[in-house]
Amino acid sequence: MSDQEYVAYGLPLIEDDDIAGVLDSFRSGWLTRGPKTLEFEEAFAAYVGAGHAVAVNSCTSGLHLTLAGLGLGTGDEVITTPLTFVATVNTIIHTGARPVLVDIDPYTMNIDEKKIEQAVTSRTKALVPVHIAGYPCDMDSIMGLAGRHGLKVVEDAAHAVYTQYKGNMIGGIGDATVFSFYATKNLVTGEGGMITTNDEALAENLRLFSSHGLSHGAWNRYTSQGSWFYEVLAPGYKYNMTDIQAALGLSQLKKLDRMQKRREDIARHYNEAFADCPSIELPADSPDVRHAWHLYIIKLNMTEASVDRNTFIEKLKEKGVGSSVHFIPVHYHPYHREYFAGARYPVAEEVFERIVSLPLYPKMSDRDVDRVIQAVREILR
Ligand SMILES: *Cc1c(COP(=O)(O)O)cnc(C)c1O
Repeated sequence: MSDQEYVAYGLPLIEDDDIAGVLDSFRSGWLTRGPKTLEFEEAFAAYVGAGHAVAVNSCTSGLHLTLAGLGLGTGDEVITTPLTFVATVNTIIHTGARPVLVDIDPYTMNIDEKKIEQAVTSRTKALVPVHIAGYPCDMDSIMGLAGRHGLKVVEDAAHAVYTQYKGNMIGGIGDATVFSFYATKNLVTGEGGMITTNDEALAENLRLFSSHGLSHGAWNRYTSQGSWFYEVLAPGYKYNMTDIQAALGLSQLKKLDRMQKRREDIARHYNEAFADCPSIELPADSPDVRHAWHLYIIKLNMTEASVDRNTFIEKLKEKGVGSSVHFIPVHYHPYHREYFAGARYPVAEEVFERIVSLPLYPKMSDRDVDRVIQAVREILR
């Protein structure tokens, strides 16, 4: 099969304005955190309606920075979901705290809000809900529960730039929200992430810790108004974003709504095409939310489907369609199997056997979309 015929699983949309922005940053001679990063932070905070934004070099470092910045450490417990990318759980482990997994809701595939309360102990300090595929968790019940037990809420919004929950943008709801701009995400900077919060002191602290704990960032030292002097106020990390990445972030943010409209079109097209297919359960959606459609995850209905999930993926590939699985449950990985000592999460395990992520990105042509639909229907006929 030629590359032209193959419908790739995911591709970023990089256009002339993105390239021009990055070149401009090269020409300016300012490569690391500087004016473009500050501009991107402001623009992003405004976009999600949060008071503050701190740009970092990945969502993973942003999660670690935020959890550490909120004071989590040895002896603490943090509740999250088994159906996520391992970074959500690993960054909790990095702080010294213990991740506690709570099984998922079979429809939304987000953490099952009804099961969180029974996992709360006197050691629980924070909740890390993950908005899987860009469909938001039930934030009313999560914030209510956090309030009753005095817990911090750090949202893993790697999939949820553009997501709204009951009319509110994800990014201004929890104590802090962390986004990913990894190459496959809805807004890309290659590698990169953003922490948003309404807590000014937390934002200042995160900024400090993102760059060695220096009292003055490079932008305040190397410019004509700057001074050579700095002090180290804390043993910080090296997690800051660069201006090269921020240049890409700025141009991507300008076109985000357009890219999202295309994602919505494709998702609607898939929904219509698969509505009459008994082998397929469509992705969660609801009039209460605005879905970011980072992923289009179908669940095979195993009593109806003629093939199992792995065969389905193989056959898609034979027909020139890339796909993926989000996610292998965290406790299935060799390290985490041992860490969680054989714990079981039956809903996540059952759902995992049936999920497939179909291609969904703005760069897909109508023809690509039709080819995916045709391939899926042929395999499941
Ligand atoms: C991609 C992803 C991350 C990690 O993002 P990076 O920017 O690559 O560090 C974290 N959580 C989830 C749910 C993700 O999908």
